[in-house]
Amino acid sequence: MRLRRKFFPRSLRDIGCFLMMFIFIPITFVFEITVVLPDFHDQSSAIYILTCLLGLFLLFNLQANMLACMLVDTSARTVLLTPPSNERQRQYWRYCSVCEMLAPPRSWHCSICDTCILKRDHHCSFTGSCIGHKNHRYFVFFLLYLVIGATYATIYNSIYFWWLHAATYVNWLTLVKIVFPMFMLCFDVSWQNFYLLIYMLNVIASAYSMVLIAYHTPYIMRGAKDCEKHAQRYDQGVRRNLVTVLGKRMKLAWLSPFVESELPHDGVHWENVMDDTEKHR
Ligand SMILES: [Zn+2]
Ligand SMILES: [Zn+2]
Repeated sequence: MRLRRKFFPRSLRDIGCFLMMFIFIPITFVFEITVVLPDFHDQSSAIYILTCLLGLFLLFNLQANMLACMLVDTSARTVLLTPPSNERQRQYWRYCSVCEMLAPPRSWHCSICDTCILKRDHHCSFTGSCIGHKNHRYFVFFLLYLVIGATYATIYNSIYFWWLHAATYVNWLTLVKIVFPMFMLCFDVSWQNFYLLIYMLNVIASAYSMVLIAYHTPYIMRGAKDCEKHAQRYDQGVRRNLVTVLGKRMKLAWLSPFVESELPHDGVHWENVMDDTEKHR
C-alpha cells in the first residue's frame, strides 16, 4: 500500500474542516468522561469503566480511520496502467489532459488533489483528500463511528443539560448561546459556554453524519460510486459490492484500520466486472 507524501489538506476550507474535526473529537471524549459521565455513574462502577472503554474504542477508530483516509494513496499513479487491447473495452478509458495519461474507467481527476483518483467517489473536506478505491473502507468506518459516537454523546449531553442541570441551563439565554455559541464565547468566556459549544457541535455532527450515511449507503450497496452514470454495470450483488469496498476480511475490518482486508479488485480493470455482471444477467 502506497502512502501519500503530501497528505495535509491543501485548500483553506479543507484545513478548517479537518482541524475542527481532529480537535473536536478528542475534546468531546475528554468532556464526556470528565464532566458528563461522572454525573450519571459512579466513577468506580463497571458501567462507567465500560462506557469509557467504548468511548476510547470510538475515539481511536475515528482518528485512525480519518488519518488512513488522508494517508492511503488512491491515485491512478499508484498502479501500472495497462489499457486493454480490446477496442470495445478500451472505450471506457479516458484521456486526462492534466495528468497527460489514459485513465481507467471510474477514475476522475480531482482539481484539489491535482491527480486522477481510482474509482473516485468524492472529495472529502474533513480529511482533505479524495475518497476512492483504496481508502473507501476507511471513510465508511469513519462515518459509521461518527454517527455512533456523536449520537451517543448527544443523548448523554441532552439529559445532562436539559434535566440534570436544568436549573443552570434551561433559560432563554441558553437557546441564544446554542444558536450563536462562538458569538457568546467572544463576550463571555466561561466553562458553561464552552460546554454548550461542544454540545451544539455534537448535535450537528450527529445529524450531519446520519444524512451522509443515509446518502452513501445505497450507492455502496448497489456497487456504485457517488453520482455515477450507468452504475448498474458494476453491480455484483450486495455482498460482493460490500467486499469491493471493505475488503475480503470485512467481518473483522470494522475493529481497526490496522486490520488487513485485501481488496478483491485492482481499481483499474473494471471491464472484468462488467463482463461478469453481464454473464449473471
Ligand atoms: Zn488527471
Ligand atoms: Zn480530491
